[in-house]
Formats: sequence, structure tokens, C-alpha cells
Amino acid sequence: MDFAISEKMQAVTGMMAEFVEKELIPLEPEFLMKDFKAMLPDLSEKRRMVKQMELWAPNHPKELGGMGLDLMEHALVSEVLGRSPLGHYIFGCQAPDAGNIEILHKYGTEKQKKQYLKPLVAGDIRSCFSMTEVELPGSNPVMMDTTAVKGGDAYIINGQKWYSSSADGAAFAIVMAVTNPEAAPHLRASMIIVPTDTPGFNLVRNISVMGHKGSDYFSHAEILYQSCQVPQENLLGPEGFGFVIAQERLGPGRIHHCMRWIGICNRVFDLMCARASERIISPDRKTLSTRQIIQSWIAECAADIQAARLMTLHAAWKIENLGVKEAREDIALIKFFVANVMQTVIDRALQVHGGLGMTDDTIISFLYRHERAARIYDGPDEVHKMAVARRILRGYAGRKVK
Ligand SMILES: Cc1cc2nc3c(=O)[nH]c(=O)nc-3n(C[C@H](O)[C@H](O)[C@H](O)COP(=O)(O)OP(=O)(O)OC[C@H]3O[C@@H](n4cnc5c(N)ncnc54)[C@H](O)[C@@H]3O)c2cc1C
Repeated sequence: MDFAISEKMQAVTGMMAEFVEKELIPLEPEFLMKDFKAMLPDLSEKRRMVKQMELWAPNHPKELGGMGLDLMEHALVSEVLGRSPLGHYIFGCQAPDAGNIEILHKYGTEKQKKQYLKPLVAGDIRSCFSMTEVELPGSNPVMMDTTAVKGGDAYIINGQKWYSSSADGAAFAIVMAVTNPEAAPHLRASMIIVPTDTPGFNLVRNISVMGHKGSDYFSHAEILYQSCQVPQENLLGPEGFGFVIAQERLGPGRIHHCMRWIGICNRVFDLMCARASERIISPDRKTLSTRQIIQSWIAECAADIQAARLMTLHAAWKIENLGVKEAREDIALIKFFVANVMQTVIDRALQVHGGLGMTDDTIISFLYRHERAARIYDGPDEVHKMAVARRILRGYAGRKVK
């Protein structure tokens, strides 16, 4: 594995880092206080600037209007953009659209690409991914109640989903629904494109998450599909391939998330070190940074962040060079390891800030609330740990170790 960063990527990430610092971080106090929807005019202007700088949609193919960066390159980008909660959105590479773009690009028909993919990459519309159900465990999504039954030339969809992130204001959802109930469990569900203005697509509410309902892109919706009818041509990929496609969507997606989390770690680590260096905690004007317990946290956080970063880059390298299948164990390892590193680093940064850390005068308390979910979405920690352990233990079955 080559650790050198190309001149091109140094230039790209340098420009992005400067933009995040100068244009996005100053918007954060407003972002913390205002409804996201109310910020859209300002955010659109920032997106326009990014497009003008030719830094739009870094991870998407050139022929679609993106920069065409590969996974390793986009990992570096994701780290830089992760420093601000607005980064990925402003540069047109935010989840869940990024994953939806990947699968539409790979599996979409020409008509689907024209109607949904092109405007999605351009940032003219948004989308959501509607898989998790209210009544059934998202950790085991083969247990799924939502059905899509054929009637005439349509699919008629019925079911109750929640955590369809960013559904508020989205133009369409990619919905997972059972189309082949008699097939093997992993071949029962399909992905179907559902425009959100279809009768029977009912956005029940934006769920209040950690005290915040959010709006527009920054929200998580509960959706009731009630006899929601779409043409059969809205099927994405082959019928029964929902889980196969979902798996493909998750591999590179986890690299994007993990590197975004490293960006968050870097940001709060900087805040922690700066605060420790300036906060005077005794009459003889000693700062917090003189205390060994704080120094120990700083050293541990630095080591954890570096370990998490290298593990993630290694997993990205493996995906690119050996394929998603070969990298499965590495992808599961980074998913829980990096999420937990991030949680610890944010927690320590908050602790070092004391009462200030609890306020919204810094970004830390928002990140503390918002990023707790990292240990749950895309598979909870426990599921990944068990999968990795089972795989490791298989190698020891009947093996004598001295
Ligand atoms: C902020 C956020 C955004 C999300 N965005 C989306 C989205 O855009 N689209 C979408 O479809 N979904 C989304 N989700 C849903 C997410 O994928 C699910 O929450 C996740 O898969 C877990 O499913 P669950 O909530 O039903 O928990 P459950 O499956 O009920 O699991 C609950 C807990 O049980 C434990 N557990 C589960 N299984 C096992 C096991 N086998 N062994 C041991 N312990 C176990 C874990 O600790 C787990 O956290 C989002 C969730 C969050 C929090």
C-alpha cells in the first residue's frame, strides 16, 4: 500500500479544506440555531461556488458531471469535508444520495438514469433510501413486511418504514419491498423507485431524534406506503436482487462514512487541544494542557485517530485492489472501530470544554448528539463484531495452536 498522496489530491483536498474553513465553518452557528430549510438559499450559493471551482460531486463519474475520483481519493476528500456537518452536502457527495447514485449508475435503465440519476448528481433533486421498518429489526432486514405486489403493469406497495433519512423534500425514494415471498430469504426483496408525489406515499412525520426533528436534508422520516402504485419499469436492477444491491451500496459507503468520522475526530481533536492550551485552571496561570490526565487523553486520541484512519484507508485500498468480497472483514472492523473511536474523541473533547462543551457555542455538543447514531446505522456494532468473530473463529476450527 502506497501512503503517498498525489500532487493532484494534495491540490484538491487543499482547496476543499480552505473552502470548509472559510465558507462553511462560519455558517455553523446559524446551522445550529436555524431550521435547515431556512438555510437553503445560503447553502445553494455555496454549492454554486463549489461547482464553479470544479469540485462538485467528487466521487461521481465524470460523464455524469462529477470529478470521477476513485475510492482511495474520495476517502481523503471525505476526511476533509467531514470537518463540518455541512461539508458533504455542499460538495454534492452526501448520504443517502451518494449510495443511491452508485446503484442507479450501475443498475438503472437509460430512462431511470435520465429521469433520476442525472438531476440527482447535478444536485437539482434529492432522494432517500427506505429500507428500515418500524416493527421489524433493521439489524436483520430479511425480516421485512413491506410488500410490492404486481397488479396490471404496476407494483402496489404497502408497508411502514422509518428512518428514511432526508425524505422530507426528496423527489424520490428507493424502497426495499418483498416482491418474491416464496424465494430464499435473501432473494425476496427488490428495490423500487417511488417518486414522493405518488399517491399513497405518506410522509407521516420527521422523527424527533436526540431532541431534534430537523427538516429537509437534515431529517429522518417515517413513511407509510398505502397502496402506493408505481409502474413496474421503476424496478431497479433485477427482481429479488434488493439485498445483493444493498450490500454493494454499503461497502464503499462505509469507507465514506468512516473517513467522514475521521474528519470529525480531527476537528474536535483540534478544538480539544486548543482549549486545553488556552484554558487557565489555577491561580499560577497553569493551563489545562499542563495536567497529565489531559495529556494522556490527547496522546490516546491521537493514536486512536491515526489507527482508525490507517485501518479505513487500508480497507479502501483492499476494496479497490481485491474487491468488496475480499475486504468484507476489514469493512466490518472499521465500521465499529472508527465509530467508537469517534465517540470517545468527541466525548473527551466535550469533557475538556467543561460547561462550554455542553452548549451550542461550539460544534461539539451537536456532534456528540448527532454522531451517536454511527454505532447503529449501516449495521449496529454488535452485528459487525459477531460477523467478524465468527469469520475469525472459522479459521480455528480443529486447528491446533501451540
Ligand atoms: C440516524 C439514523 C439514520 C438512518 N438512516 C436510514 C436510512 O436512510 N434508511 C434506512 O432504511 N434506515 C436508516 N436507518 C436505520 C438503521 O439502519 C437501523 O436503525 C439499524 O439497521 C438497526 O436496526 P433497528 O433500529 O431496527 O435495531 P434492531 O435491529 O432492533 O437492534 C437493536 C439493537 O439490538 C442489538 N442487536 C441487534 N441484532 C443483534 C444480534 N444479532 N446480536 C446481538 N445484538 C443485536 C444491537 O445493539 C442493536 O443496536 C438509520 C438509523 C439512524 C439511527
